[in-house]
Formats: sequence, structure tokens, C-alpha cells
Amino acid sequence: MDGMRDKSGDPTFRPAASKPFDIGDFVKLIGASCLTAQYRRSLRAIRCVNSIYQNLEGATIPLNVLDISLKEAKWLDYRRPVDDDGDFTDFEHFFPKRKEPMDRGFFPRASRFACIAMFESGIHNLDPSVFDPVVAMASANSLFVAAELVADPSELCQHAIKRVIGNVGRAGISLLVLPQLAPRVKELGYDWRAVPHEDYNFEREDNFQHTNLVLSFTEWSRPVQVAQRGSIGEDVFLIECVLSVHDRGKWVADIDPMNHNIMKWDVSCTCPKQVEPTLTAIDSWEELLDAPDNVAVFRANGNIYARLGAVAIRKSQGTDQQKRTLIVPPGVKPCFRCVGHLDKAVIID
Ligand SMILES: [Zn+2]
Repeated sequence: MDGMRDKSGDPTFRPAASKPFDIGDFVKLIGASCLTAQYRRSLRAIRCVNSIYQNLEGATIPLNVLDISLKEAKWLDYRRPVDDDGDFTDFEHFFPKRKEPMDRGFFPRASRFACIAMFESGIHNLDPSVFDPVVAMASANSLFVAAELVADPSELCQHAIKRVIGNVGRAGISLLVLPQLAPRVKELGYDWRAVPHEDYNFEREDNFQHTNLVLSFTEWSRPVQVAQRGSIGEDVFLIECVLSVHDRGKWVADIDPMNHNIMKWDVSCTCPKQVEPTLTAIDSWEELLDAPDNVAVFRANGNIYARLGAVAIRKSQGTDQQKRTLIVPPGVKPCFRCVGHLDKAVIID
């Protein structure tokens, strides 16, 4: 912000045209020490909302949010490290200049969902713990989705939420949760031709172009208790959904891509070039489900949804399988000879 004072010396609020509005600058202008704790809470809430909605392109909010008392927002403190609401007179302590806690990933996704629910409905101040298992929220024509479900699985999503246009055909707000039971996976058949396990030819390809991720709903749903009533379509429901991998129209597995622990492989070559290991190509889901005993490359280069499916299936196969999996981030050109010496592993390309 430019020009903190006018010619008479009075403080003026004059945002520079080239810079976005910054609450921190505003507080600095008027002096953080003269603000009450409640007022500081409200300002912090506005800053959080601003940060969340910057990544929700196209989202709108109803005018009745103007009646909300932001200082009472439950999502503001949920699982937040103790810091902001003490007796602060030091501005830099109150609004750390380098990064907000939420930018560092400390503002949990549940709080972000609760914040969006408040601003979508204009009335709901829901307990953020309700949102702990939520992976997506549908409201009007917006789907607010945990970034893990729509981003490449090698990305570090850090509690981010993305908005996509769509609905689930229900009024009010639908909170989508995945089943608590372990995801179902297709049983292996006895047809050896389904798992040829051919040698990898070091060509980076996408052989999963007929793979889709399908979202469906189970019978389970539960209303969420809301204290505030008074707007049309204010109902909030938890709804169980299933995310599945389908290939050529046939079901392969249900998946839960959240919170996987698969390592990225983005180191440069360290192997002696004369070594020519034999790797195996994985070009079908059956081959992934029945992975070979050497190093294999799951070939879905550039195919986010097949890569998501592969990561989730390896995760569901257990800790050992998950540890023996590496994912190549987009744009990285690894040396596949480097991993030839590994005992047993799946490389998701
Ligand atoms: Zn190498």
C-alpha cells in the first residue's frame, strides 16, 4: 500500500492500483496495538477467507455473509497452533510477514471446508471436526474438492481445495466422504495372458488411455446438525461416495488416493551407464495388481487419473508395497537404469 498519510498528516486508506488489498498492510496503517483482540480475530478471519478464495476461481458468495460475525467462526482456531490471540502489540508477531500459518499448511483442510461452507450458505458456523473425513463439498453448481483428487499424485497438495463446476443433484450442502472400510480391489483371475509382464523397452508411454475414475454414491447419508436456520436449502448432509478405477468400462478397484505416502523419484542419474538392467513393463491393471518380482514401470505417462489409481492401489496393497513404489513427477526425465538394482519395486511413470 502506498501513501499512508495525506498532506494534513491524517492516516488515509489508499490502496495502490497495482497491489491486491492486504489486511496486514491495513492493520499496520491503523496500528495493531490499538485493536481489540476481537477485532484482530475478525481481521485474521478475513485474511484467511481471502487466501482460500484466491484459489477458488469462479466461486460466488451470498450477500447475507455480511451478517456473519467472523470473530465467532469456529474454523478459525481449529487445530491451530497457539499464537495469535494473546496480548500482542507487535504487528510482525501478529501478522508474520513471511507466511501465514495456512500458507505453511497448518490451516487444516477441515477448517477450509468449514470456512467455505460458511460463505456458501451465508449462515452456517459448523464445527470443523465434521469436515475431518470430507474429501469434497457440493453446493449449488460448485464442487469444492480436496486437491489430491484432481491433481497429479506427485504434487504436494498441503490441504488445498480446488473448485470445479458440477453438482451431485441435491439441494443444500453435501459433504462427500469415502467409505471407512478398506477399498475393494478386483480379484485376480487365472488367465496368465492377462499378465504378460513383458520387458520394459525404456519408452515412456501412456497405455492407460481407456481408464476413467468414476464417482458413485452408496446408500449411506446422514444429516449434520446445524444451529443456524433460516435460508432456503440450508440442509447439510454427509454423503458416502466411492471413487473407482474403471478401464474400458469395467470396474477395476475402489480407491482412496488421500494421504498416500509414496515417494517421488526426481534424482538425477547415479548409475554406471554400461549397466543394462532388465525391467518389466506394466501396461494393464491386472499387471499392477499382480506386480512382478523385479522392478516394473507402470506406463501412464501424463495420465493423472491412471497415476492416481495406481498410487491408491499400491497404497491399499499395504505398507510394504507402498514403500516399494516410486512416482516420477511430470516433466522429470529419470534414468530407469538407476533403479535396475532394486529388489522389487513399481515405478509409476
Ligand atoms: Zn542412471
